[in-house]
Amino acid sequence: MVAGNWKMNTTPAEGAALAQAVIEHVGTPGTKVVFGVPAIQLTQIQALTSKAPGFYVAAQNMHQEDSGAYTGEISARMLAAAGVDYVILGHSERRDYFGEDDTLIHAKILKALAAGVQPIYCCGEKLNIRQAGNHEMVVGKQIEQALFTLEAEQMRQVVIAYEPVWAIGTGVTASPEQAQDMHAFIRRMIHNYFGQDVAESTTILYGGSVKPDNAEELFGMPDVDGGLVGGASLDAAGFAAIVKAL
Ligand code: PGA
Repeated sequence: MVAGNWKMNTTPAEGAALAQAVIEHVGTPGTKVVFGVPAIQLTQIQALTSKAPGFYVAAQNMHQEDSGAYTGEISARMLAAAGVDYVILGHSERRDYFGEDDTLIHAKILKALAAGVQPIYCCGEKLNIRQAGNHEMVVGKQIEQALFTLEAEQMRQVVIAYEPVWAIGTGVTASPEQAQDMHAFIRRMIHNYFGQDVAESTTILYGGSVKPDNAEELFGMPDVDGGLVGGASLDAAGFAAIVKAL
């Protein structure tokens, strides 16, 4: 899978043009291609992806309750009813700027699964954690808190995105070896808790300054099953090149 995370970019007209251009550049993809778009564009992009085989649409967040007095929020049920396929949960920007932690993210994952929207669960360590050599411990804890009460059948619906925070939007990407080591660690954790079958079928994306010129090397690592792409997903030709690198 290659998923774009547009974040808070593009107007509806710009978003429609971007998605359309990517679809034209890529043609029929050999993998799943996901557009993570601003909420206001979900139905519009869904209308495009539903006609383009291999393309899907993702929300960038949702609320953990079904409905109620939560001004400004969107529920999993609303996403499902709008035909939204995936929801990005636990992105580091949600954690940093909106105070989300793995207890809350866990609640959101359960709601998304119950509604039939597949979570793309983001985890990853900050620079000081990596420098102290504690990255596996921290990411391991994130995975444990967010995912380790799910049933195996639920876990099969979850996509994991490993995004080292120091690589997001910085132009500094993890080396292919750093990505591979963490992905293998995550897959071992999934294996130990959910078994081999689930571990092998879990898609683990790498995110953090993925670009057309480093995608092939990253995607060439055995446990890297694709990418979650921020900045470079806003350029149709560049994003299409990243899709083709998988
Ligand atoms: P970036 O963002 O590709 O711009 O580093 C990745 C992300 O935040 O998902």
